[in-house]
Amino acid sequence: MLLINGTIVTMDDEKNIYSPGALLIKEGKIADVGEEKTLKEMYPREPMRDLEGKIVMPGLINAHTHTPMVLFRGLADDLPLDTWLQDYIWPMENKMIDPDFIRRGGLLGILEMIASGTTAFNDMYFFQDVLAGAVKESGMRALLGQGLIDFPTPEAKTPQEGIAKLTALAEKWEEDDQVRISICAHAPYTCSSELLKKAYHLSEKHHLPFHIHVAETRKEADLIKEKKKEESIVEYLDRLGVLDSHVVAAHCVWISEKDMDIFHHRKVKIAHNPTSNLKLGSGTAPLHLMQKHGLTVSLGTDGAASNNSLDLFREIRLAALLSKGLQQDPELIPAYQALEMATINGARALGMDDITGSLEIGKFADFIVIDTSAPAMRPLYHPVSHLAYTAGRENVEEVYTSGKLLYRKGEYFTLDAEKILAEAETAAERIRKESRV
Ligand SMILES: [Zn+2]
Repeated sequence: MLLINGTIVTMDDEKNIYSPGALLIKEGKIADVGEEKTLKEMYPREPMRDLEGKIVMPGLINAHTHTPMVLFRGLADDLPLDTWLQDYIWPMENKMIDPDFIRRGGLLGILEMIASGTTAFNDMYFFQDVLAGAVKESGMRALLGQGLIDFPTPEAKTPQEGIAKLTALAEKWEEDDQVRISICAHAPYTCSSELLKKAYHLSEKHHLPFHIHVAETRKEADLIKEKKKEESIVEYLDRLGVLDSHVVAAHCVWISEKDMDIFHHRKVKIAHNPTSNLKLGSGTAPLHLMQKHGLTVSLGTDGAASNNSLDLFREIRLAALLSKGLQQDPELIPAYQALEMATINGARALGMDDITGSLEIGKFADFIVIDTSAPAMRPLYHPVSHLAYTAGRENVEEVYTSGKLLYRKGEYFTLDAEKILAEAETAAERIRKESRV
């Protein structure tokens, strides 16, 4: 199929935008992309589809989330991270989390992500084999890992049990293009140095990404400094030898420029979660300094219990605006850079930039179609400006992965939305009873 007459924002290294542009899709992959006139001449026999007035861009990539937590959306708001985790989320998780919860919450989160233009996500949670099944059904792409932590979880009584389960999971999903497995350690303050090293070596052995929360709150940064005799969290992790290009460090709100140099040297990828950091009162990550130090920064929503949405368009806008406002410098994080964070940099963080994240020949056809006919989207001078500052998930008209249509104007083509919504409501009834809200 040859898509013609749209504006194609490729997010490739040359920052190519074709308008009117064309995108040729064959067997789920991008066979060609470029100016419409050229491609029409080259492929006159291809069935064509006219996308007049629409923008085509890579599907968004959520680089840090806990998808099934959508079932806890709005359950406990306006609390600091430690109280929120210790008094609400962890006790609820211990009562509620089982494979059935993961399936119901996972599918609900997937519905939300698809409708907001997300085609791939990076998830840290429990019973990920169940979430993997939901991802396969949906047609999305995901990097999934179960959080290793020093105390018993709903899934593993000991970290050893967690490691054994993660190893089995990695072996099961080896060689899958839709579902890939990561090794997750919850955070430096909830994992011993032994567990961090074990988890890292596991990721090294299986060539898997290593996903970890880093320096989310000032309290956490101070705690490690106190425990580790003036070392920062990043220095501590570096001394343990657990930092390299396969590491996705979520948050990094409280890191110094020295820490950023270490990250740059080790090629660590960052997942920036502006809404969650703001809502939990954790602070704002120094995004402008991360960019100055040449770090690869991707964007995440974090779980919907602390966001309270999985909408990446909001994060794109917020990431750009926060830096400009806080530093009183409107030139920081221009629109294009904000979009890069939610597309190609997300793919880099997930270790999937060879297969997705931009519209380039040979990659999977993971793309979204943005409608620009709404009054709020008119007039349109610069498509990148609209995508970063104007568009919202309400403008997402179609969503494709591997060239397959997942969603069009409110209708899902791979999932039964009505059934998923009903099943999520049943799960919410149980949560209501347990939490007495
Ligand atoms: Zn998180």
